Amino acid sequence: MGSLHGGHQQLLRRAAEAVPAGRPAVLLSVFVNPLQFGPSEDFVRYPRDLAADGALAEAAGADALFAPSVAELFPGGEAQLTGVVPPAALRQSLCAPGRPGHFEGVATVVCRLLALVRPDRLLLGEKDWQQLTILRRVVADLALPVTVQGCATVRDADGLACSSRHRYLSSAERRQAAALPAALEAAQRLGRSGTGSAELLTASVQGALAAAGLAVEYVQLVQPLTLSPVCEAGGLSLLAAAARCGSTRLIDHVFLMKRPPIVAIDGPAGAGKSTVTRAFARRLGLLYLDTGAMYRALTWWVLQRGVDPADPAAIAPLLDDLDLQLESDAAGEQRVRVNGHEVSEAIRGPEVTALVSTVAAHACVRAALTRQQQAMGQRGGLVAEGRDIGTAVFPEAECKVFLTATVSERARRRAADLAQRGFAVPILAELEAQIAERDQRDSSRAEAPLRQADDAVELVTDGLSIDDVIRRLVDLFRERVPEDAWPGPGAP
Ligand code: C5P
Repeated sequence: MGSLHGGHQQLLRRAAEAVPAGRPAVLLSVFVNPLQFGPSEDFVRYPRDLAADGALAEAAGADALFAPSVAELFPGGEAQLTGVVPPAALRQSLCAPGRPGHFEGVATVVCRLLALVRPDRLLLGEKDWQQLTILRRVVADLALPVTVQGCATVRDADGLACSSRHRYLSSAERRQAAALPAALEAAQRLGRSGTGSAELLTASVQGALAAAGLAVEYVQLVQPLTLSPVCEAGGLSLLAAAARCGSTRLIDHVFLMKRPPIVAIDGPAGAGKSTVTRAFARRLGLLYLDTGAMYRALTWWVLQRGVDPADPAAIAPLLDDLDLQLESDAAGEQRVRVNGHEVSEAIRGPEVTALVSTVAAHACVRAALTRQQQAMGQRGGLVAEGRDIGTAVFPEAECKVFLTATVSERARRRAADLAQRGFAVPILAELEAQIAERDQRDSSRAEAPLRQADDAVELVTDGLSIDDVIRRLVDLFRERVPEDAWPGPGAP
């Protein structure tokens, strides 16, 4: 809605980063949308300064400014316009009850702007979390061909989340308003020290706001994706508040998290999981855990000891004193050691590949390696890839992806990988048969078979480049774990 501030500028900078250099591609829309203001709200006095907006937008990397008038955007008049009504479930908490019609007005105008501009990506601040959540849902439900990207809330030095409405504040009010982020941060510290009760957390914020002389509209603890109120902060929770400082309405939030996030990436052999998962982990500052390498290392050891891979009774004793170590080397590559042997390359060979799913099917093997993986993930902050991560190892993972590709695509990738590693490359038909057989063995075993978790998102990677897949993974992660909750490395 214009009257640009540091938060908008950050969105523009992020948008400019996301497109190839030299291509004019970032458009800023400025439109004070009458549909989203209630009759007693501040539509008329909302700050408008298009000349300043143009200069700020250009400096932050915008290539175009789209600032239609109300008559241009709604040529048939506002009253006759087709409205977009977001799901009622997302309009029952937070700002919606106090602002009837607001999110319908937002959704209606944003859909129209998207239809006119047809962007690939829509960047919105996480500050207006309910708006972001609702727009994501509207875009998904209407199957609009755009990716919605939320960007971390930008704050001024006094902690206040940037907002155009802060222009209304006098300097005394501004000092008073700073109690809002301070109260939420104090509650976040309470949460970190173990208080999960919504009643206690909201009471602490309410008390601090009242003490600062702010009129509380709501303080709520909600599940961030469904926006339904929760009694107890569970996995990831949103503690949000709105209050009035004089005549100015302020909103803000913090996220509460029990532990750093866990991402589960499962899928069949050769879907390209390792490459993308490793890059994704680095991009988000999460540890990378390749569980397939653990099953491979054990298989190597089984072969080394001359044990029958099909005989669980013979393998069980090997598990008692199995010392399986995964470490990252200086280049960030995962190195694997089993009982003192460095096997990082050897476990990728055809012999291990041919037998690993036989070894991995045994209940005793699954129990031992699952236990070790769960111990590695106890403190969170990791991306694990395998076959059963989202279903058996980390069913509580915040983000679950089922990464797959057609058998022929996976066979082509396997051939390229074998050639690159200096192994003999079988003909494609043979590779396809091997891959299909391994899929069949992994998905039909009794213990933790390969299958897509009910809450996993399927990502089919045929025709996508590695960068495309990584970007999709980051987008999927960010829909579930906002930047405000887990900024990742290199965050401003
Ligand atoms: O991913 P990668 O091809 O290295 O995995 C090798 C094999 O290890 C899989 O085909 C599967 O049999 C087994 N595995 C598993 N559970 C995991 C990871 C791998 O059973 N979580």
